[in-house]
Amino acid sequence: MPVPRTGDELERLSTALNQMIARLDEALSHNRRFMADASHELRTPLTILRGELETMLQQTDGAPELEEVERLAKIVENLFALSRLDAGEAQAESVQFDLGQLAATTAEQMSLLAEDKQVTLNCLAPRVVSVEGDRARLKQVVVNLLDNAVKYTPPGGSVTLSVVAAPNLGKAVLEVADTGMGIPTGALPHVFERFFRVDKARSRELGGAGIGLSIVKAICSAHGGQVEVASEEGRGARFRVLLPLAETAEETKDKPNAG
Ligand code: ADP
Repeated sequence: MPVPRTGDELERLSTALNQMIARLDEALSHNRRFMADASHELRTPLTILRGELETMLQQTDGAPELEEVERLAKIVENLFALSRLDAGEAQAESVQFDLGQLAATTAEQMSLLAEDKQVTLNCLAPRVVSVEGDRARLKQVVVNLLDNAVKYTPPGGSVTLSVVAAPNLGKAVLEVADTGMGIPTGALPHVFERFFRVDKARSRELGGAGIGLSIVKAICSAHGGQVEVASEEGRGARFRVLLPLAETAEETKDKPNAG
């Protein structure tokens, strides 16, 4: 802020405030750099550790000894992603693409995960819904939401992913709804916070560290969008992502092979 050269309290106060802001700024970027460096440095030894363990155990997956290493690797990977988002790299790329198609391919890729858990995964994305942004990052949003939905839905339940355009709002609407355990009302305002987990024991058992949804939120914000949640404990959860629709004449066109 501008410092008035008045030689009085006001000048001293402005100077002090400016110094404080500068120090805060420095501390913040120091923190960000630390997180980025730490997670980056942890990746390589973890990959080596995993490789060596696999060789020692003569198998690639399923060994209980490997599970904790896998979990650790996932957390570090997520921390690294989060630190890059903090550094403002959320929208590294900006291209126009069909969110419906991205949802459909992602659901297809994750269908085995759902099958393993005996959860039915449906995808409803019959029309072209154009958005603009970083495809890989927006895919991460879909992956994280589907991963949670499957994780927190017991066998026999279902997960539905849908993408529609709301041209009157100028928004693309992506929803992930599940029939799982849901989220208690008191926890709803916190689920997008870093490291927040509704039930630490429950979530840890499932491999969660409470970072997935904060990544979702950061990516949505960076794309000028938002994410919201509605849920009742024991009655499933519904996550809704709103993104700006890209300017195009194609929004209402049917896909050639929709159905
Ligand atoms: P985690 O890796 O622990 O799943 P997230 O940030 O993805 O972390 O989610 C935060 C918390 O929100 C989770 O620990 C879980 O308690 C709750 N949660 C997220 N998605 C769902 C869902 N679909 N159903 C029930 N609870 C959920």
